[in-house]
Amino acid sequence: MDITKLTALELAQKIKRRELSCVEVTRAFLEKEDIYNAFITRDKEYALKRAEEVQLRIDSGEMCSALAGVPIAVKDNICTRDFRATCGSKMLESFIPPYNATVVEKINAADMIIIGKTNMDEFAMGSTGETSFFGAALNPLDTSRCAGGSSSGSAAAVAGGLAPLALGTDTGGSVRQPAAYCGITGLKPTYGAVSRYGLIAYASSLDTIGILSKNTADAAALFEIIKGADYRDSTSFYKPCERAKKPYRVKKLDKLPLSDYAVPAYYIIACAEASSNLARYDGVRFGHRAEDTKSVEELFVKSRTRGFGSEVKKRIMLGNFVLSAGYYDEYYLKALKVKRLITEEIMKALKDCDFLLLPTVTGAAPKLNESLMNPLEMYKTDTFTVIANLTGLPALTLSDGSQLIGKPFSETDLLSYEI
Ligand code: GLN
Repeated sequence: MDITKLTALELAQKIKRRELSCVEVTRAFLEKEDIYNAFITRDKEYALKRAEEVQLRIDSGEMCSALAGVPIAVKDNICTRDFRATCGSKMLESFIPPYNATVVEKINAADMIIIGKTNMDEFAMGSTGETSFFGAALNPLDTSRCAGGSSSGSAAAVAGGLAPLALGTDTGGSVRQPAAYCGITGLKPTYGAVSRYGLIAYASSLDTIGILSKNTADAAALFEIIKGADYRDSTSFYKPCERAKKPYRVKKLDKLPLSDYAVPAYYIIACAEASSNLARYDGVRFGHRAEDTKSVEELFVKSRTRGFGSEVKKRIMLGNFVLSAGYYDEYYLKALKVKRLITEEIMKALKDCDFLLLPTVTGAAPKLNESLMNPLEMYKTDTFTVIANLTGLPALTLSDGSQLIGKPFSETDLLSYEI
């Protein structure tokens, strides 16, 4: 039996029945070579020690969750006290967070085992994984292609059998798009349903923490663990919507509302928020090296110009531009209006059905080094995913690449939809 081919729930069941120990399971994943560049950090020693502790709890009958003993990979923009959180950037290359994100606390409390931190586009800005300072992750289905982005490593890890489950983040499609490219399942929850405390912010009004898995049942089990309001994130909120009756009423969304404006509105809002969120990386508090004896001014300039890659710098400039006096009304306010209009249209479309059905991506996963040449084309590939972020609605990408958008807090229904 190849342990790394089993689903998360199958692993959990075998661990519960003592057919496998969680040390054996953890070792099986960590012994596989990372041929997809899926991880930025893997820590075998740490994970095996955790697995031993968890096994002791399981043996004493203390374990509680449906995924106890199951390994998981975590995207590298989520704070972990036991691993560095680089955000795929040179700026945070050696940053070890002093605290755990709420999702990490929940995963640990559920006796899951974090095996490493996954590769990603720098500060989650990108659609191919290629803006990572650590190099692109390869697509396990075809290693001449990218795994997608920005949760490139999380998708490659699950699709390539390096982890049974992974956390990603989705601001404009970064969980669903790589899931579609790699042929796995991706859930972007309702905005606020999962606490963002400890997530290194990209665009706070759009950011969500989501799940990459082999199937919907695994995602449902993990969602149960990570969801819920958190006093440390004042935007978090969870109120399950009334369950819909099966068979679900699915409406094909043939024409996107304001289709020409969704992507521009998304990039204006995302860059505006990013320019404010990333202002803290001033080279003084982050990116500072103890061995550097230069003046603060020198460090500031060095870190600002060399700490960030070109995509991040471009977006900070774009964000500052759309927020600047004279252009604020013309770009930023207009983008907010588009966001509101799209939300109204989508909510209207959801009135007489349970889910809207649309594709996740506009084409196949790009070949490596192909898309960076043409950034505008790359932005356009986000057409179908940004809708769920602009509206805040939950969306699920199935392994065939189709996407379902549901009503607020309808994750349980979405995840019980079968292809
Ligand atoms: N591709 C989009 C962007 O570059 C989405 C990123 C994301 O969801 N983090 O902004």
